[in-house]
Amino acid sequence: VALEEKLFTIRYRADRASHLAIRDHAVCAACSRPCESVCPARVWEWKAEEGRMQVAFENCLECGTCRIACRQGNIDWRYPTGGAGIAYRYG
Ligand code: SF4
Ligand code: SF4
Repeated sequence: VALEEKLFTIRYRADRASHLAIRDHAVCAACSRPCESVCPARVWEWKAEEGRMQVAFENCLECGTCRIACRQGNIDWRYPTGGAGIAYRYG
């Protein structure tokens, strides 16, 4: 099953503010950036010309993998505020 099809099975109520944040973009600049490859939703994308990590938090599936992958602890990860975030659809 294609990733896009899986993502289609998820209803998302976007939070007003990101629940994911980079603590220090300079740390990302010096990193091999495993977050980019482990994230199933392609949330993380390094913008070399801007020297910052782009965070497409709206796509996040809340799997938690990036927190483990980021050995520098550079990802500030909070659960979305009540009512927001994802709702999995069964059946
Ligand atoms: Fe930045 Fe952590 Fe990703 Fe490395 S793994 S690029 S430090 S968020
Ligand atoms: Fe990607 Fe999962 Fe991290 Fe969300 S929690 S940004 S889906 S790796």
